[in-house]
Amino acid sequence: RKLRVGIVYGGKSGEHEVSLSTAQAVMNAFDYDKYELIPFYIMKSGQWRVGSTLEGPLSSQEDLQLESAAGGTVKAMEMLFTGLESPSAHQQGIDVMFPLVHGTNGEDGTIQGLFEMANVPYVGAGVLASAVGMDKAFMKQAFHIAGLPQCKYVDFIAAEWNRNQDEVLDRTEQVLGYPCFVKPANLGSSVGISKARNRAELVDAVAYALKYDRKVVVEEFVDAREVEVSVLGNDEPMASVPGEIMSSNEFYDYKAKYVDGKSKMAIPAPIDVELAARIREMAVTAYRAIDGSGLSRVDFFVRRSDMQVFINEVNTMPGFTPFSMYPLMWKETGVSYQELLDRLIELALERFEAKQ
Ligand code: ATP
Ligand code: MG
Ligand code: MG
Ligand code: MG
Repeated sequence: RKLRVGIVYGGKSGEHEVSLSTAQAVMNAFDYDKYELIPFYIMKSGQWRVGSTLEGPLSSQEDLQLESAAGGTVKAMEMLFTGLESPSAHQQGIDVMFPLVHGTNGEDGTIQGLFEMANVPYVGAGVLASAVGMDKAFMKQAFHIAGLPQCKYVDFIAAEWNRNQDEVLDRTEQVLGYPCFVKPANLGSSVGISKARNRAELVDAVAYALKYDRKVVVEEFVDAREVEVSVLGNDEPMASVPGEIMSSNEFYDYKAKYVDGKSKMAIPAPIDVELAARIREMAVTAYRAIDGSGLSRVDFFVRRSDMQVFINEVNTMPGFTPFSMYPLMWKETGVSYQELLDRLIELALERFEAKQ
C-alpha cells in the first residue's frame, strides 16, 4: 500500500497562520500516487482534529480545517498510538508523521516527544535538537563548544531581573554597550525582539521580551548582511548554497518577514566563493553541534566592516512554503520542492530504523 503520512499543522503558537499556508503547500506538492495523506489539525486551543485520507490537493486554507473535522483529540491520539497498542493493527496506523508546526509545542521537542512515545517515525529534528534549537541561550552554549564564532551576549531569567534590575543592566552595558538586541530565549519569527539604544530602551525591551518568556537573551548589535544556509540529512548532512536576506525594515522583524512582502532574497547570496564555502561548512558544524536531523535553516551575520562571520541561530522547523528561503535555497542547489519532501520522509524512516 501507499505510505501513510500524517500532516500536522496549526498549533498553539503565534505562528499558527504561517503553519496553515505551509501545510497547504506541502499537501499540494506530495505525489498522491505514492503517498496517502491524513490531516491532523491542532487548533489554537491545543485540541486536535483529524480527518480521513485526502483525495487530492486542497483548493483553499479553509479546506484544511474542514478536512480534519472527522475526529477530535482522542481519535487523533488513537490513530497515532494504534501501531504501538496492537502491532497487528499496524496496517491501519500512520507510517510517518510530518509536523509543520512552528514554535512552542511544535519546534521545541514536545511534539517530537509525543511521536517518540507513540513509536512513530517523524520528519525533522529529534527531541534534543528541537529543544536546543528553540532555546537561544542553550543554542549559544552548543555553538561555543563547537568553536563557532558568535556575537557577545548575556542572558538572565525573570527572577534575576526582578531581584536586581540595576545589576543586570550594569552587567549588560559593560559587556555589550549600545545598541543591543533583546530577545525572548524561546521564540521565532522575531516575536518579542527589539533593539535598544540606551538604558531606558533596554528596560522597556527586557520587559517586552519577558512577556513572551521567563528567559531573555541580550546581544551586541552586529551591523551585518544576513546570510542563511539550508541543511538536509541525518548523520551525513548536506548544506545548500547560501542565500541572503535584504530586510525591508531596520531589522528583519515580523512585519518584514510576513506582512509587507517587501523584503528581498538573493539566492545564491552575492558573496565570494571562499566565503560561501566557509559558511556552508559552518552550517554543517552548527547542525552537528545541536545534533540535528532531517532539516534546519542556519542563519548567519556577515559583519559589513570586516566580513567576519558570526552564527546567529539554527531553526529546526524553518518556513517551508515554496516561497520560503529553505526550499528556495535547495532549488538553487538542484533539489526541487517535491524531491525535498521525498527526501525528508526517507530521512525520517532511516532515523527510525537506525534506532530499532
Ligand atoms: P526566525 O526564527 O524567524 O529566523 P528569530 O525570532 O529566531 O527569527 P533572530 O533570527 O534571532 O530571531 O532575529 C531576528 C532578526 O533580528 C534577524 O534576522 C536580524 O535582522 C535581527 N537581529 C537579531 N539579532 C541581531 C544582532 N545581534 N545584531 C543585529 N541584528 C540582529
Ligand atoms: Mg529563529
Ligand atoms: Mg523560527
Ligand atoms: Mg532568524
